[in-house]
Amino acid sequence: QGDVAVMNSSGCETLCTTTWGLCDTVIGVLGGGQLGRMLCQAASPMGIKVSVLDPLEDCPAGNIAYHHQVGSFKDMQAVREFAKGCGALTVEIEHVNVETLEALARENVDIEPKPFTIRIIQDKYMQKMHFKKHDVALPEFMKIDSAEEAEEAGKLFGYPLMLKSRRDAYDGRGNAVVESREALPLAISSLGGIERCLYAEKWAPFVKELAIMVARGRDGSIRSFPVVETTHVSNICHTVEAPARIPKEVAELAMQVAERAVGSLSGAGMFGVELFLLKDGNVLLNEVAPRPHNCGHYTIESCFVSQYEQHLRCVLGLPLGDPSMKVPAALMYNILGEADGEEGFTIAHNIMRRAMSVPGASVHWYEKPEIRKQRKMGHITVVGPTAEVVRARMNWIINTKGIQDY
Ligand code: ATP
Ligand code: MG
Ligand code: MG
Repeated sequence: QGDVAVMNSSGCETLCTTTWGLCDTVIGVLGGGQLGRMLCQAASPMGIKVSVLDPLEDCPAGNIAYHHQVGSFKDMQAVREFAKGCGALTVEIEHVNVETLEALARENVDIEPKPFTIRIIQDKYMQKMHFKKHDVALPEFMKIDSAEEAEEAGKLFGYPLMLKSRRDAYDGRGNAVVESREALPLAISSLGGIERCLYAEKWAPFVKELAIMVARGRDGSIRSFPVVETTHVSNICHTVEAPARIPKEVAELAMQVAERAVGSLSGAGMFGVELFLLKDGNVLLNEVAPRPHNCGHYTIESCFVSQYEQHLRCVLGLPLGDPSMKVPAALMYNILGEADGEEGFTIAHNIMRRAMSVPGASVHWYEKPEIRKQRKMGHITVVGPTAEVVRARMNWIINTKGIQDY
């Protein structure tokens, strides 16, 4: 069990080496979205206090956190102020003010994963360079600083070509698929222009997308959840199926790639590893998130420990839980806003009502301040005896008017 820096009630720093549960460690999470909310939910039974820093007054984690500081995780002053009330800091989003975290780490504030890891990951190009250096299999990629270099990438990698912005990307916002040389200028401007800092990736002709949630303890030990299969619609995660229906050798290879990638990073916590499975059985890394991840929501109902509880255990240096599945099959479906406002709410509400009448189905609603089209509003997980059964149950739930079939 690692040493955990904690603030006592008078605000001065003390070291808690043994008695977690008796001391008042507050874990501070930068970001109060759905991942922060589910961290708060996992913390509650263990008596762990989670505070969140988020600019939105009514963010998803806001009303269930031990404390919600309204402020931006990109703002130096806000992050510094927030850190004062926390014994350890972690993130639920990587797009945070990493310079401030680095400065705090130099002042011995306990931050997991390490700020350097967050720095590498928040710039996708830097992330790719880092993993290349550590011999992690990746699609080919190159930096693009001019229209000419974009053409060069097209010549080198062919079309379709994937253009990505280096920073602030999520849910595919920051990606553009370029079908031809002629389409390059439009794709570049759709991403905000060359100034936005872009890079290009060779198209990965995957047969499946896989993901693995990898936990890393404070002592560096690694524990992975099972390999899952993911589907994306318009670049946004649509479903996650566990376990992945792939041969054992492929699962082993995927595990090797994921653990190699996480092993090259520093700090404790959950890491979401997204992978491409190619036709020839090869596995390439897409990206890593230094935090709990959408692809790990299913663990709440399906594994002996959830990714959220495991993240907290990692950060606090507690014994890690058993990540294996306690049910034979699970399927997670993201509830996206189908329409803005009231109409979107009615559609989502209908899906949740249907889910509540299905055995093995659990509903998670994030209480976002407003419903917007294509935004993640909640999710449903169905567990059951076989992959076929959970698919059939999920199909019945989501097969209402206006909802795409799974
Ligand atoms: P997230 O919400 O997962 O953080 P993101 O905005 O970071 O998403 P990526 O993970 O880079 O976006 O890409 C989103 C999706 O686009 C991938 O899951 C995959 O379906 C597709 N994709 C990304 N890169 C490639 C590639 N090189 N070749 C083919 N498809 C790709
Ligand atoms: Mg991403
Ligand atoms: Mg991704």
